[in-house]
Amino acid sequence: MVRVRLAPSPTGTLHIGTARTAVFNWLFARSQGGEFLLRIEDTDKERSGSEFTQNILEGLQWLGIDWNEKPVIQSERVDQHQDAIRVLLNKGLAYRCYVNDVELEAMRHAQRALNQAPRYDNRHRHLTPEQEDAFQAEGREAVIRFRIHNNVEIEWNDLVRGPMRWQGVDLGGDMVIARRAPADQIGDPLYNLAAVVDDAAMNISHVIRGEDHIANTAKQLLLYDALGLIAPTFAHTPLILNADGRKLSKRDGVTSIDDFRIMGYTAEAVANYMMLLGWSVPEGVGERCTLAQAAELFSFKRVGKAGARFDWSKLNWLNAQVLHGWTSEQLLESLCPLWVDRGWKVPAKRSWCLELCKLIGPSLILLKDGVEQALPFFERPDLQEDANQQLEVEGSKTAIIHLLDLLQTEFWSGSDMNQAQVLLENAAKAAEVKKSVMMRSLRAALLGCLQGPDLITTWSLLAQIGEDVPRLQRCIS
Ligand code: GLU
Repeated sequence: MVRVRLAPSPTGTLHIGTARTAVFNWLFARSQGGEFLLRIEDTDKERSGSEFTQNILEGLQWLGIDWNEKPVIQSERVDQHQDAIRVLLNKGLAYRCYVNDVELEAMRHAQRALNQAPRYDNRHRHLTPEQEDAFQAEGREAVIRFRIHNNVEIEWNDLVRGPMRWQGVDLGGDMVIARRAPADQIGDPLYNLAAVVDDAAMNISHVIRGEDHIANTAKQLLLYDALGLIAPTFAHTPLILNADGRKLSKRDGVTSIDDFRIMGYTAEAVANYMMLLGWSVPEGVGERCTLAQAAELFSFKRVGKAGARFDWSKLNWLNAQVLHGWTSEQLLESLCPLWVDRGWKVPAKRSWCLELCKLIGPSLILLKDGVEQALPFFERPDLQEDANQQLEVEGSKTAIIHLLDLLQTEFWSGSDMNQAQVLLENAAKAAEVKKSVMMRSLRAALLGCLQGPDLITTWSLLAQIGEDVPRLQRCIS
C-alpha cells in the first residue's frame, strides 16, 4: 500500500514549495490508489504557531488537496522519539557531547581559516566516564549525537534522480539528534530523528520532498539502519527557480499560497501550475488539467531533475483558461464578494449580474480583472481624452441628442436588442451621420473611453439600471 505524507513545519504560511510538494505527494498517492497523510512538524516551539497550522490546512483545502486520517502532530510523539534515542544510546550508536558554543565557534573558525567546510570533529565521541563526570561537574549540559562514520557509504535509488551515493565524511560529522539537556535527561529530539521515527510509525512507503533534503535523506537512512527500521523509497523533486535561475525567494513577490489567492489566481490554476513545476504532461496531453485528471497520468518518470523555472505567463495562461471555462454563475460567486468589498451596490437582479459576468468573463486573466472591468457598471467613469475627441466629431453630439429624443418617445428597457439597433439607426439617420459614428459616440458616452466590451450588451446593462440616459445627457450639457 502506497502511503505518502506531507510534513510541513508550521513556522509560516503555506509556502509555494510546500504546496508543490503536497501536489506531487497527492498525485502520486492518487495515481497508485494509495493514501496521503499529513504530519505537522511543530517541535520547534519558538517558531511554530497554531495559526500557521491553520493556514497550511486551509491552503491545502483551497488547492483541492484532501488527506487521509487525522493529521499527526509531531510534538505529541516526543516520548516515542526519546525512546528511539535511548535505543541508540544503549547500542552505543549515540553519545552525549558536552562541547559548548564557544568551543564550537572556535572549531568553525579554525576550519574557515583552513578553507574547510564546517563540520563537528567528533571530539566527544570517546569520552571516558571520568571525563563525562568532569564536564557535568562543570555544570555543562549535553546534546546527543549519532555517530556517522567517515567511510560509511549510503546508497539509495531515488525515484527522480536515480542511483544516489553519499559518503559519511560528507555529512558534517556526528549528527545532533537531541538538543542540549542535563546529562540525566534527553533533550528535545531534532528533525532527522523525529522524521525517521514518525515516518516508520506512520508506515510511510514513499518520502517525496524537495531536493534541499537530499543530505537529510542520507542521514535518515543511517538512522533507519541503526534503529532496525525499514526505510521508505525516496523521491527528491527539483527546486523552484525564478526567471534568473535562482531559488525562488521573497524578492520574487510570492512565497505563500495566499499571495496567489490575493492576486486573483484561482485555486484550480494554481494547483495546475504547481504540478507543472517539475512534472511534464505526457505527449499529446494538454497542460491544462485538474488534479484528478493529472492523477491518472502522473508518474515520476516525467519529473525532471533540473530546477523548475517559475513562469508567470504560463500561470496567467492557465488562470485565463480556468476562468474562461467557468459559467456565469461560478464567476458571479467569486466576483460578487470582490464587488461588495469595493463598496459597490450590486443590483439585486441576479440576471443583470449574470449578464455582466457573461460580458466580461472572456477577457479575464485574473479574478481581480473582473473588478476593474466591472467598474464602469458600478461607477460613472470620467470622460477620457479619446472619448472627448469622439464627441467633438461632427454630428456626434447631434446623434446623441436624437438618440435621447427617441428614448423619450420609445422607451427602451434594455431587453430587446433589435429595438436597440433600430434606435441607433434612426438616431444616426436623423443626425445625418454614419451608424459607426453613432456607435462610437454611444461608447464614448457610456464608458468614457473608446475601448470596452460588446456595446449593445453594455448599453443594455446600463439601461436596465437607468444609467444610460444620465451618461448620454452629460455629453451634451
Ligand atoms: N518539516 C520538514 C520541512 O518542512 C519536512 C521535510 C520532510 O518532508 O521530511 O521541510
